Amino acid sequence: MEIRTIGVVGAGTMGNGIAQTAAAAGIATVLVDVAPAALERGLAAIGKSLDRLVAKGKLSAEDAAATKGRITPAGELTALAGCDLAVEAVVERFDVKRQVLAELDGLLAPQAILATNTSSISITRLAAQTRRPGQVIGMHFMNPVPVMQLVEIIRGLQTTQETWSVVEATTKRLGKIPVEVNDAPGFVSNRVLMPMINEAIFCLHEGVGSAEAIDQVMKLGMNHPLGPLALADLIGLDVCLDILRVLHEGLGEDKYRPCPLLVRMVDAGYLGRKSGRGFHDYAPAG
Ligand code: NAD
Repeated sequence: MEIRTIGVVGAGTMGNGIAQTAAAAGIATVLVDVAPAALERGLAAIGKSLDRLVAKGKLSAEDAAATKGRITPAGELTALAGCDLAVEAVVERFDVKRQVLAELDGLLAPQAILATNTSSISITRLAAQTRRPGQVIGMHFMNPVPVMQLVEIIRGLQTTQETWSVVEATTKRLGKIPVEVNDAPGFVSNRVLMPMINEAIFCLHEGVGSAEAIDQVMKLGMNHPLGPLALADLIGLDVCLDILRVLHEGLGEDKYRPCPLLVRMVDAGYLGRKSGRGFHDYAPAG
């Protein structure tokens, strides 16, 4: 099956990056968010990202304009009815994703594929919310999507070989490298990454080092491009907390217990870059 139109649900950190990447690969893309302000922010982020590529000489102004032109923004899921592949990138909550996938299932053509960008939730469980579990798959993009090469691909128990093959080929068409992993809480990426981020937050919580010191140690000492606290700010502290809760509940071990400081930060609305404040400050100068 050839994918001619991709639908993306959620225009947040990940959704706008996925839409930009699909459109840049020449595919007609529909980007939906239920919050008008979020849709606007998502489109602005795509515009900024394309402008940066043009300024760096990595993209021509014509190609940037053509990429933008391939993205159709919409406020309703019904705009996705004609898509061959829909990628949901809404908040990391089972109840919200279940609702979105069930609605998409009722809207899209019977042969269309439903992919989820979930960071941690069971693909098998999400697929079971639809009448097409064979055509549901995990397509876990990395942040920032236009830059990162990996897409973790996760089959649910009922995902068909045909669905896998179409999604593998589409991932390559997007210029990404697919890596298949099994359906377990957090898959591989967040099973390994989140305990490290959580431990860095515990270090801050217990006064082992300042946020700057913790990030410097991991950057200079371990050659990480970003320190774990700066990375948490990039991901979104609410997203980190939701993922840790899935790991904690799904694997049942205390080592995944979210640090109380992370819970407090999210309660306060300190969500990282997207809110202007997290473990570091992102407020515009002045
Ligand atoms: P985000 O909070 O930045 O964006 C989520 C968007 O979904 C918001 O704009 C919200 O308005 C929209 N939304 C909520 N309910 C909706 C609905 N019913 N219909 C349409 N839109 C709806 O979140 P994000 O960081 O982009 O994360 C999205 C998904 O991607 C999550 O499952 C997350 O775990 C996963 N993910 C995140 C990262 C990351 O680094 N942030 C990386 C990989 C995967």
